[in-house]
Amino acid sequence: MALIITDECINCDVCEPECPNNAISQGEEIYVIDPNLCTQCVGHYDEPQCQQVCPVDCIPLDPAHQETHDELYQKYLIITGKSA
Ligand code: SF4
Ligand code: SF4
Repeated sequence: MALIITDECINCDVCEPECPNNAISQGEEIYVIDPNLCTQCVGHYDEPQCQQVCPVDCIPLDPAHQETHDELYQKYLIITGKSA
């Protein structure tokens, strides 16, 4: 499941550099996560790094993008060019 940034985001920019997949960018009003690039940090870290650093706790799971751990890992392999 990808994560999503809610409108409680205060545009602090802390999360963007922490994302190992470069999935976070500045949107029109708040920061946004590209669900095609977010692996919930699977493959890189045990915990979603953006959630760890967000000072207002506004990055929940996105129910619109349901994925299993295995699907997230496959996405990680494709993004990093490690899939056969
Ligand atoms: S959970 Fe990980 S991969 Fe997804 S946006 Fe946050 S830092 Fe990036
Ligand atoms: S860390 Fe949280 S408040 Fe800061 S830009 Fe990212 S989502 Fe927004």
